[in-house]
Amino acid sequence: MVFWRFLSNKIIHTKVQSCKKWPVWVTLGALRSQNLKMHRMNGFLRLWNDLLDLFYPTTCCACAMPLVGNEECLCTSCRLTLPRSQSHAISSPELTNKFAGKVVVSFVYTFLKFEKGGKVQRLLHQLKYKNRPEVGQVVGRIYGEELRAGAVQTQIDLLLPIPLHPRKKAQRGYNQSDMFAEGLSETLRVPWSAEVLARAQFTSTQTRKTRLERFENVSGIFEVVRPSEVIGKRVAIVDDVVTTGSTLESAVATLMEVGAKEVSVITIAAAY
Ligand SMILES: [Zn+2]
Repeated sequence: MVFWRFLSNKIIHTKVQSCKKWPVWVTLGALRSQNLKMHRMNGFLRLWNDLLDLFYPTTCCACAMPLVGNEECLCTSCRLTLPRSQSHAISSPELTNKFAGKVVVSFVYTFLKFEKGGKVQRLLHQLKYKNRPEVGQVVGRIYGEELRAGAVQTQIDLLLPIPLHPRKKAQRGYNQSDMFAEGLSETLRVPWSAEVLARAQFTSTQTRKTRLERFENVSGIFEVVRPSEVIGKRVAIVDDVVTTGSTLESAVATLMEVGAKEVSVITIAAAY
């Protein structure tokens, strides 16, 4: 079962990137949409739908309702009504203050407001723990469009996702922040790279430490692999959630030390 889930998501990931080359999956999706109407009528169809769901997930990643038509990952209702954070289009002092006294960030933009048990938590859970990398790309594309409307692309030269430790990336199969950065890059039209910022050590004991201890612990965990790509650039660090900010602080400090002109932060959600 785990193997099938893994295989199906690998196929879907390919579909998201090159669906025109795989018309068979579009066909399967159309079949699935038609079948939804008859879902309760026939046990065989229900089984068929369950089978298709393995290869072509057709429920909304935020509300779990069936997707219809051209909807991808998010239903239209969630796409329009997911709770935007206070800083989704205007940098919030509340968030930039998280970094105050440690490092200077130019701005912090965060797309959605995280609420425990809410739709945004479900969306992040699907992205991080349910092997659905395409969720990050779709959310990134939507947020990129909204940021572009506010001309944020004129303030950034390069998007750099926070890297996962290689061991964790191997377990998950992908870095959710890479997926988000890829989506953002597509609609914001700012380049991104997973090859510039690297993680140097594992910090699994971080959650048991105080804020000060955490900053000390994480400072120096990142390294810039290609400094020439950062020097004099306005870099935006991309992550899934702003929590304590200590990991982000470390990344900001590392990039500034190397010679970035400005460093800012863009995330999917913030818990505040
Ligand atoms: Zn939905």
